[in-house]
Amino acid sequence: MSPYRGRFAPSPTGPLHFGSLVAAAGSYLAAKSRGGEWLLRMEDLDPPREQAGAADAILRTLEACGLHWDGAVMYQSRRGAAYAAALARLQAQGLVYPCACTRREIADSHLNFARSAHDTPFAHASGRGGGGEGPGDAARVYPGTCRNGIAPGKTPRAWRLRVDDTPVSFQDALQGKQGQDLAAEVGDFVLLRADGLYAYQLAVVVDDAEQGISDVVRGADLLNSTPRQIYLQHLLGLPTPRYLHLPAAVNADGEKLSKQTLAPPVDARDPLPALVQVMEFLGQAPPQQLRRATVAEFWKWALANWKTERIARRPGLPAL
Ligand code: GLU
Repeated sequence: MSPYRGRFAPSPTGPLHFGSLVAAAGSYLAAKSRGGEWLLRMEDLDPPREQAGAADAILRTLEACGLHWDGAVMYQSRRGAAYAAALARLQAQGLVYPCACTRREIADSHLNFARSAHDTPFAHASGRGGGGEGPGDAARVYPGTCRNGIAPGKTPRAWRLRVDDTPVSFQDALQGKQGQDLAAEVGDFVLLRADGLYAYQLAVVVDDAEQGISDVVRGADLLNSTPRQIYLQHLLGLPTPRYLHLPAAVNADGEKLSKQTLAPPVDARDPLPALVQVMEFLGQAPPQQLRRATVAEFWKWALANWKTERIARRPGLPAL
């Protein structure tokens, strides 16, 4: 069996908050409880969504939490050549095509379709750039307008990957068997965006392989992205890691905790309350006196007592 190698891959869109601390601590404990390595990758490939100073602040907070990573941090902002090479391989195989559609045109085609079909074409493909180009316009199946060529007079904007209707399935180590019909639920998805930035789906696949990740442990908000990533791994001849999707921390309205939902940052000067709360959230039943422990004592307890079976098998769970 290959050695265990896990990772935490934050996007520097804001400070580390409870939801991201769950993914950090969960992936760390899964790796370290098996004598594995835990790598860090800064997913800073989308400058318009980033906050100045957030990447460094996240690293400092992780250190204050005692979450020490192995090796050097990988920065996606420095990995453009690797993403370009992967895209070129797909281009050479005719698996991707240029797309001239604007967001508005895609949205309009859905309206027209919905009117004629008396149905909504919106699928369950949440997550990064379903048929669209960014996180904002997920959950829309790309109608395939440019699949067989761009209409005369139109300018290519993005590159999309052709998907087929063979269901992609995988066994999630916590959530169980998962499957998705990419053609019906996602559509041909964007790998190089109209603004010239590489899409999360391509970068994550290239980098998980480059870092030799054996096990991806992350929030279940990314469960719907995993089939796209497995599909890409197959096309690029890259190995598929094992996946474990932790429950995502949601607020009272069922929304994922994020900067947008005003999740409070983890206090780097006093991280113990948040760390203990994360253990509670992950079903590990931490003793309350741990709140007064040192960071080192906390991890000693957490590693000795970590049991994946105790985590709720649910995609979302209210933050405590
Ligand atoms: N950067 C992504 C996020 O912060 C996580 C990517 C991943 O774990 O695959 O949501």
